[in-house]
Amino acid sequence: MDEGKKPQTIAVSAGRMTAEHFGSVNTPVYRTSTVLYPDIHSLLTENQPYKYGRRGTPTSRSFESAIEALEGDAAARCVALPSGLSAITTAILSVCNAGDHMLMADTCYGPTRIFCDKTLPRFGIETTYYDATVGDGIAALIKDNTRAIYCESPGSLTFEIQDVPAIAKAAHARGVSVLMDNTWATPVFFRPLDHGVDLSIMSGTKYIGGHADVMVGTITANESHTKRLEDFYGDCGLFLGGDDTYLSLRGVRTLALRLKQHEASALEIARWLQHRDEVVRVLHPGLQSDPGHSLWKRDFKGSSGLFGVELKPASEAAMTAFFDGFHHFGLGYSWGGYESLVIPSHFKRTAKRFEHDGPLIRFHAGLEDTNDLIADIDAAFARLKAAP
Ligand SMILES: *Cc1c(COP(=O)(O)O)cnc(C)c1O
Repeated sequence: MDEGKKPQTIAVSAGRMTAEHFGSVNTPVYRTSTVLYPDIHSLLTENQPYKYGRRGTPTSRSFESAIEALEGDAAARCVALPSGLSAITTAILSVCNAGDHMLMADTCYGPTRIFCDKTLPRFGIETTYYDATVGDGIAALIKDNTRAIYCESPGSLTFEIQDVPAIAKAAHARGVSVLMDNTWATPVFFRPLDHGVDLSIMSGTKYIGGHADVMVGTITANESHTKRLEDFYGDCGLFLGGDDTYLSLRGVRTLALRLKQHEASALEIARWLQHRDEVVRVLHPGLQSDPGHSLWKRDFKGSSGLFGVELKPASEAAMTAFFDGFHHFGLGYSWGGYESLVIPSHFKRTAKRFEHDGPLIRFHAGLEDTNDLIADIDAAFARLKAAP
């Protein structure tokens, strides 16, 4: 449908149903539970496109088909969920059965790890964490009961790039499904399904919504994984309400444009940070010095606004002085909105230690003027130095 179109054009045009809505550019919010049928024959045969609120509305179809188009020609079906985490847990449970084993990237989003450690064992599903940079070495970790390999690239908080095509090749040779959390890049910068992933997952809360005002997750399946995804999603009664779906779709319209600016701003700030005395290294795959840079360059079309920094060892008082007093960078979780954020990074690794001496922090470059953002960080470094 959108073959050959650039992501920016797809983001603007996909999923629109203008003719069905009296010329309105946007598909309106359908707040729907009951859908009426014109006669008993229609009701008994369900021969109309919309049947019941939970089973889809024009608003949800507009949003999901826009994501399908963004995810590329290999995308067969997208479903929207009430958060990124619910998309992750739903995707995993749609492929894994009792007695199965899953290989999980050691650098996964923290709550993904908690789900694997706390909840999956209750369903008889075992998780092994693997070094995210294992590449085709993943083949040696696949067991007879391995059902899924889960990727997240770059890794949460530490930003390692994975060789997703190599992992997918090894997985498919053994009939194993490949899942990927693609929240950081979005399909504008990396299309998981084009690189062998079977279920592409996003926390749409981040760049899809883009305005820090909606919680949403998406799972997009290729043809071979569509039926089990649709069945599990439907059987669990999952759905995203009309208002949140509408906001998510509105975010899609400016996604590619916003990402261009997040990318440019993050790179400018990252390069400035690289030359600071207080900084040991910047964790950003778009930088030439980054260990993941060549893989990133091979597979990704861009980088987004989120990256990490290792500072030289600093006292707790100095770090408190650093964090307290920002004007533009907010202290808070999530990211992907128009505003800049900073947090201290804490994470667990069990497959491979992440070596560092000084504190790790994570920046999200928002859409403010970068000179203002750099001045804000400059002032934070001055506070850090002045602290006892
Ligand atoms: C935020 C985040 C999630 C979870 O998304 P929610 O919408 O907050 O549930 C999952 N993966 C990554 C990489 C994230 O940053």
